[in-house]
Amino acid sequence: MKIERTIKYEADRVKGFGDEVSSVPGCEKLQACIQCGTCSGVCPLSIYMDYSPRQVMAMVRSDFKNEVLTSHTVWLCASCYQCTVDCPREIRITDIMYELKQRALQEGIYPKKFSIPVLAKEFYKMVYRYGRVSENLLAMTMFLKSSPLEALKMWRLGLGLILRGRFPLTLEKIKRRDELGRMMKVVDQVKINKLHDELKQARQHVAARSQA
Ligand code: SF4
Ligand code: SF4
Repeated sequence: MKIERTIKYEADRVKGFGDEVSSVPGCEKLQACIQCGTCSGVCPLSIYMDYSPRQVMAMVRSDFKNEVLTSHTVWLCASCYQCTVDCPREIRITDIMYELKQRALQEGIYPKKFSIPVLAKEFYKMVYRYGRVSENLLAMTMFLKSSPLEALKMWRLGLGLILRGRFPLTLEKIKRRDELGRMMKVVDQVKINKLHDELKQARQHVAARSQA
């Protein structure tokens, strides 16, 4: 995927972002990246990405938070672990991609019209509300939210499938959904607290480094 390259300035950086990500267990070795490009070379999906895995590592380390979180790359990563296996500095690139996906959703900074993060968000919402995923409704919601014009173009096909009973629109639900919702909220709160703690630690680390 081609993106418009623009000059980046110091003011575009969100200082401390790279340190925050590196402080997460599994992502510690990020700072050891030597920019050799092996990860981009072995990645089967890098030709479809807006930034290669090597570029993402460099951008995270240099605090370009918004550029990374709104990129398509983290969502196109198929978690095949090839880059992680081949990295000469043993950087767990795949786990860093996971961390970036989580942050993007938690902070609401992701490409809003790109189907993969929209699917992840709608999947979560459906499980939270109903305890089950109704695949057809999920696919329809994802389509309408990410590319409504494309969805409209397929109305004839969709209608045909519905009339032939191949596309049931029934909503599946479990009993005691409120209990599941409460459990999910607790897990979310734990994650948010963890994120706040990491942020605090990273800020202290950055402050200590600048005083040294
Ligand atoms: S393979 Fe490892 S060291 Fe080389 S660019 Fe990728 S992350 Fe950096
Ligand atoms: S784990 Fe992701 S970034 Fe790494 S090689 Fe596979 S698809 Fe590419």
